[in-house]
Amino acid sequence: MKFDFDKIRSEFPILNTKIKGKPFIYLDNAATTQKPICVINKIQEYYSEVNSNIHRGVHYLSQKATMEYEKSRTIIQKFINAASNDEIIFTKGTTDSINLMAYSFAKKYMQSGDEVILSMMEHHSNIVPWQIQAEDRGIKIKVVPINDNGELDIDAFESLFTSKTKLVSIIHVSNAIGTINPAKEIISIAHSHGVPVLLDAAQSIQHIKIDVQDLDCDFLAFSGHKIYGPTGVGVLYGKKKYLNEMPPYQGGGDMILSVSFDKTEYNELPFKFEAGTPNISGVIGLGSAVEYVNSIGIENIYNYEKELLDYATSKINEIPGIYIVGKAKEKCSLISFDLNGVHPHDIGTMLDNDGIAVRTGQHCAEPILCKYGLTATTRASFAFYNNKNEVDSLIKSLLKINNFFN
Ligand code: PMP
Repeated sequence: MKFDFDKIRSEFPILNTKIKGKPFIYLDNAATTQKPICVINKIQEYYSEVNSNIHRGVHYLSQKATMEYEKSRTIIQKFINAASNDEIIFTKGTTDSINLMAYSFAKKYMQSGDEVILSMMEHHSNIVPWQIQAEDRGIKIKVVPINDNGELDIDAFESLFTSKTKLVSIIHVSNAIGTINPAKEIISIAHSHGVPVLLDAAQSIQHIKIDVQDLDCDFLAFSGHKIYGPTGVGVLYGKKKYLNEMPPYQGGGDMILSVSFDKTEYNELPFKFEAGTPNISGVIGLGSAVEYVNSIGIENIYNYEKELLDYATSKINEIPGIYIVGKAKEKCSLISFDLNGVHPHDIGTMLDNDGIAVRTGQHCAEPILCKYGLTATTRASFAFYNNKNEVDSLIKSLLKINNFFN
């Protein structure tokens, strides 16, 4: 399939706007991605023509809304190659998916003293839910260290397993430094110890082909807004054998078959984990976003972004005194850096004056920044609608900032 950059660019209305009189250059894609017109239209169409509550109405629009909602489930099931629709749970996003997992998995399978393995490069949303379980249930957290390039120490990982290890919960791609972790190897090592794996795919789902059956991944979490869909919606994929045994995370409508004050019977999968009226328009918008990604091809996206990352890395490295944080061999399309100690907030503000949006701070990943002795970095993150001209504009602005401060 041909990668038609001009066509793609024209499909994202926000990218053709101006910021402070300058053409908008959006390099904050790891925080959230922009939305193509088909997603925007789909959501508008839903509220103008379809809006109704799902799963419980006999009237026409309720059935139509239900059909579209369930169609999104199938689109996502096929996108990640899950074995069944029942394994796709809609949530509010990655954070919600991991909280569901921590609560429900720990309640079913973990006792005081049991262990979960995380890594040094986790996002806070894959640390704090486990700390809550540590407080409530007495579980223990073990942490895989990383080397100076920002790669997981796989030997150390192997040595963390004990008879008490019940789960590995690990980030696929680091939002702070871009490392792509070797998911297949991690899963195979964990399985050799009889331990299932949850993959935080918040930063990989939009860049890398994910086949949960090929990976033999037990659980996978991601957010709609990182893959060109709306905010407030996400997915938890889980193998049926676990989801069937795990208790519900929240109680309410839709997640039950029958309720009485004596005994309540829970609904079957996936509804057992979707209590209450869900984000219907969000789920439908997410389906449209994934169809859009399919129309371009996730492999085409990966290849284009890889070339852009290589170009940006070599250009950024030419800036005197710049230090790229995270130099893993396998990296996704983001660059975190320190520019001669200039405060990232100053860099971010000055780039903003040139119409360039980047992220500055600790990227909800304080432990890994701490490991590098930093409290903040500047992060430029790229999507397939960015190009080399935009990278050149970033470099030009960074050179200007560097001259100003040094
Ligand atoms: N994990 C990673 C790796 C992330 O990058 C993010 C978002 N920055 C999250 C989890 C949390 O995602 P959300 O805020 O959409 O729930």
